[in-house]
Amino acid sequence: MFIVSIFLYLVQMANEKIIIIGSGFSSLSASCYLAKAGFDVSIFEKNSLVGGRARQLKKEGFTFDMGPSWYWMPDIFNKFFANFDRKPSDFYRLDKLNPAYKIFFADDVITIGDTLDKICLEFDRIEKGSAKFLRKFIADAQENYSIAIDKVVLKPGLSPLELVTTDTILKVDQFFKTISSVVRKKFTNPKLISTLEFPVLFLGAKPNNTPSFYSFMNYADFGLGTWHPEGGMYEIVKAMTTLAKELGVNIITERPVDKIVVLNHKVNGVQSKGVLYKCDYVVSGADYHHSETLLEQQYRQYSETYWAKKTFAPSSLLFYVGFKKKLKNVEHHNLFFDTDFKNHAEEIYDNPKWPSDPLFYANFPSITDHTMAPEKCEAGFFLVPIAAGLKDNEQLRKQYFDLIMERFQQRTNQQVINDIMFCESFCISDFIDEYNSYKGNAYGMANTLSQTAFLRPKLQSKKVKNLYFTGQLTVPGPGVPPALISGKLVSDLLLKNKKA
Ligand SMILES: Cc1cc2nc3c(=O)[nH]c(=O)nc-3n(C[C@H](O)[C@H](O)[C@H](O)COP(=O)(O)OP(=O)(O)OC[C@H]3O[C@@H](n4cnc5c(N)ncnc54)[C@H](O)[C@@H]3O)c2cc1C
Repeated sequence: MFIVSIFLYLVQMANEKIIIIGSGFSSLSASCYLAKAGFDVSIFEKNSLVGGRARQLKKEGFTFDMGPSWYWMPDIFNKFFANFDRKPSDFYRLDKLNPAYKIFFADDVITIGDTLDKICLEFDRIEKGSAKFLRKFIADAQENYSIAIDKVVLKPGLSPLELVTTDTILKVDQFFKTISSVVRKKFTNPKLISTLEFPVLFLGAKPNNTPSFYSFMNYADFGLGTWHPEGGMYEIVKAMTTLAKELGVNIITERPVDKIVVLNHKVNGVQSKGVLYKCDYVVSGADYHHSETLLEQQYRQYSETYWAKKTFAPSSLLFYVGFKKKLKNVEHHNLFFDTDFKNHAEEIYDNPKWPSDPLFYANFPSITDHTMAPEKCEAGFFLVPIAAGLKDNEQLRKQYFDLIMERFQQRTNQQVINDIMFCESFCISDFIDEYNSYKGNAYGMANTLSQTAFLRPKLQSKKVKNLYFTGQLTVPGPGVPPALISGKLVSDLLLKNKKA
């Protein structure tokens, strides 16, 4: 009898159609969980390539990840695939990078190795005695990581009570102190301070606006390490696409959703290029603000004023560069922190404008992975964080490219300008055109204290039955691992509501 009921339940679910808008990591993740639960799932993606902000650019034998390049928190990827009795190695090969990355300062270079012992030696070289504090700081960060991953981020953000656990009560002070103040208490050297403040930049906010509980990102960095999937980050998209298709998901590209159709306060379907596609549920993994504009005004939950008041993560000016020679003195990941961190952060968050003297990031995956560039060539990805909402144009892009190339040559002590085969750029207007991103943000909405957990835009619409949202503007927040988790959270919530 029990088996028959399960069978009937699954048959009933199989008749229920879900359309997922977008094919970013959160959408792909949600599609796998929902297809496994027995729904008939289709993904509608506006672009010709799946993957959202993590798309891939291939040109003249070079391969570029267009968005994410840091593979952090490997445990989250393992858990995702384990939910489907698979593991990452069924799909791609993963290598731990050593060194993990290099940071260029005006007068020195810090190399972050692949173990805490190596990193401690480097800290002691810069500031005698700092390794002792670092070990203690990372031990606390590890505790926070366990609490965050096991007890906090897996909550759907429905109520503040979700955050109340014995562990979080014991750490409550860490939600009211900032990561900046805690780091500055123990470390005095500005280079070590910048090194320890860097990981929380992934959360999209300034370190002096990020709760110190988020030091778990430091454990992700120094404790769990930096990894690289052979072939680049797009291998994860390919893996999830393969898995989704195996589970029966129908992935349709070049199908932009123009409207979410609602009848009697309930989802009726979506409209694309004038055609109505009926369904029982819609899950939107497109940027939350854009998803709501697909609804008639009366069905939107958040006003333009609401969005305008939120702290958005930065946008980025990106360059994908093919070099016709191998580069020297750089690693796979390189941070150029040779200008004033505070000043650049102010020009992103407090007084948004094109940065006067920006920090930047450069990634050369072909240093460790020969599949990313032709022989004796280097694939280069350069990222300058900028405020969301700025106006960009070709002239500004060129001006900043020249500026960072000049600094890059100086800091790495080599000439590269004459060895550039091509340079493609991507900036705010492209984020808007290609992803319908609010103000051209790159990483969604920042994880500040007032924009954490239950304070973020909700997974479920309060105004339209059977309409759900996932992705980096809702819980848990920006980044690839959070996007995988967001897909699980929205699926769990949808299933729970269905059973209720
Ligand atoms: C430059 C850059 C660097 C980054 N670096 C890292 C990193 O190193 N490590 C890390 O972990 N994270 C990084 N991130 C963040 C990470 O990439 C994102 O958090 C994550 O990919 C977001 O996934 P998502 O599913 O929320 O949204 P998206 O990837 O934006 O997916 C949304 C999808 O919806 C589609 N869409 C929009 N509107 C419609 C419509 N009307 N109809 C149909 N489809 C639509 C879009 O085309 C897109 O495919 C980076 C991001 C960027 C941009």
